[in-house]
Amino acid sequence: MSQVLPSSIAPELFAERADAIADAARELALAGWTPATSSNFSMRIDAEHAAITISGRDKGKLGRDDIMLIDMHGKAVGTAARPSAETELHTQIYRRLPQMNVVLHTHSRTQSVASRLFAADGVVRLQGWELQKAIAGETTHDAALSIPVFPNTQHMPELVAQVDAWLDSGKPLHAYLIDGHGIYTWGKDMAETRRHLEALEFLLGCEMDLRRLSA
Ligand SMILES: [Zn+2]
Repeated sequence: MSQVLPSSIAPELFAERADAIADAARELALAGWTPATSSNFSMRIDAEHAAITISGRDKGKLGRDDIMLIDMHGKAVGTAARPSAETELHTQIYRRLPQMNVVLHTHSRTQSVASRLFAADGVVRLQGWELQKAIAGETTHDAALSIPVFPNTQHMPELVAQVDAWLDSGKPLHAYLIDGHGIYTWGKDMAETRRHLEALEFLLGCEMDLRRLSA
């Protein structure tokens, strides 16, 4: 492996995180949520570092060597590998939400279509669904859960600024969609983050079915 770790990071810890990312990526790829090498996944290692998928790899076939170390500004640490183009969106979550330790970003068909359908509103408002309770901190189907939809851009600082603006406004943020692109969500550990991703995929599908059937 061409990854050189700083002495402060135990190789076992990095290997454990890399395996957890590769396992999750394989399962999400199998579900069809990571088409054509898209999507990226990361886990916090410590206050200054995270492990993230290397750019452009098939997410269904990741091994330890496909995961690299970055600092919290998205720069590669101890490797010549290139992190995902969207790395800054991961490190932003780790910097702004210190209790969050995993970020998952996928491009499923449901996420992609929903992002376009709700882009004009700038938000998907979920209310009345029992599965909203799968999101950490949400205790009732009665509450409204807002998932913002940000315009897509290849210029990451613009996206980072939009996410910052939402967080700065003090509104809760569990996930966001990017128009025509996909979803980002996070959690305190891999299990919680997987639960969030699955719940949101299901809820977005339900909202689209409702629109279709009540048209
Ligand atoms: Zn993406």
